[in-house]
Amino acid sequence: MKYVIALGSNLGDRLEILKSAIDSIKLISHVEEVSSFYETDPVGGPEQPDYFNAVLIANSDTEPEEMLKNLQAIENSAGRTREVRWGARTLDLDIVIAGDLVMNSETLTLPHPRAHERAFVLQPWVEIEPDAQIPGKGSAHVLLESLEEQE
Ligand code: ATP
Ligand code: CA
Ligand code: CA
Repeated sequence: MKYVIALGSNLGDRLEILKSAIDSIKLISHVEEVSSFYETDPVGGPEQPDYFNAVLIANSDTEPEEMLKNLQAIENSAGRTREVRWGARTLDLDIVIAGDLVMNSETLTLPHPRAHERAFVLQPWVEIEPDAQIPGKGSAHVLLESLEEQE
């Protein structure tokens, strides 16, 4: 199964946290591409520091629910706490897509329900996969362009 994973950090040593998260993800999957790190303004939530964001593409036989648990364990080991919705965090790991799977369980929605409207996900993703597609939403670069037009 092909996974696209979005990474974000806006607390602590953001770049080190992201690099170490990528190393951890390499232990649980075959990481094929990693984007550059993008410094971005926070979107939604309370006032908080700027983020560094990145996206990676990995292959793994692990089922999506199990992958989410593994990613949450990596978040926890980076000192992630959950107080305020969309608040500042040392590490956020979201599953953007898992192959062409479309699902909605109590713990996991695929594709990620907000990825298609987030430049901080679409831009790094298009960097490493120019013809990226979001099942049910279309081409990531077209989605990114339509976001840029709204600005
Ligand atoms: P957002 O989902 O808007 O990016 P967030 O990343 O800050 O917000 P979290 O507090 O990290 O939200 O996650 C809340 C819950 O979202 C998680 O406990 C997880 O069960 C659920 N979730 C649903 N779909 C996904 C997905 N595709 N990737 C990661 N988490 C997901
Ligand atoms: Ca997120
Ligand atoms: Ca998350």
